[in-house]
Amino acid sequence: MNIILLGPPGSGKGTMAGLIQKKYSIPQISTGDMLRSNIKEGTELGKKAKAFVNAGELVPDSLVIAMVKERLSEPDCENGYILDGFPRTIAQAEALDSIAKIEAVIDLILDDEKSIARMSGRRVCPSCSATYHVSVIGDEKLCSKCGTELVIRKDDEESTIRNRLKIYHEMTSPLEEYYRKKGLLVSIDVDGSIEENFAKILSALGVYS
Ligand code: ADP
Ligand code: ZN
Repeated sequence: MNIILLGPPGSGKGTMAGLIQKKYSIPQISTGDMLRSNIKEGTELGKKAKAFVNAGELVPDSLVIAMVKERLSEPDCENGYILDGFPRTIAQAEALDSIAKIEAVIDLILDDEKSIARMSGRRVCPSCSATYHVSVIGDEKLCSKCGTELVIRKDDEESTIRNRLKIYHEMTSPLEEYYRKKGLLVSIDVDGSIEENFAKILSALGVYS
């Protein structure tokens, strides 16, 4: 089962991908997490990607495509995977088509104002990548999974959030049409609670798996 999660920043791709990973025991491949950990470790890729990620710009296709190709060739991807944050451009989608067979593309639908509200309240754990929202955790400062102090992602600042949404509409939304034409697109309204949204995804996957 090879699945793509599509959706604007703040739509909950990471949260949903994590739940699907647990349910189906297939790896969640988050290009955002992979890039952030490369930046943290100061790898060659991290050095090249850093300025783009912090500004909310897309990292160049060639870098991201090479990173994903390598990841998908690892043994844990043999029985399927869930892509979270990739592809984000038509060029990335075409590159993916040349190496993988995608079975479903879950398109998370959320309007810009709600995306902004979700991102601006987001807190992340810099060591295990768990994400939280201030509306749920209140004043809690530590990761409940590993105890590390939570941080605000650099690209979750208000001005950068707007830039990420603009880029999403310009560069990534065309993928909806790309996958609709292939008959793979399933659109899910993610205005509800985490549980409600996940239930909708599961029933959509039931049809497609
Ligand atoms: P969000 O979906 O909330 O924007 P991600 O963690 O998926 O967050 O991505 C964070 C950043 O990482 C993006 O703004 C971009 O700079 C970079 N990035 C992630 N995936 C890709 C990709 N497929 N192509 C180009 N850049 C990417
Ligand atoms: Zn943690």
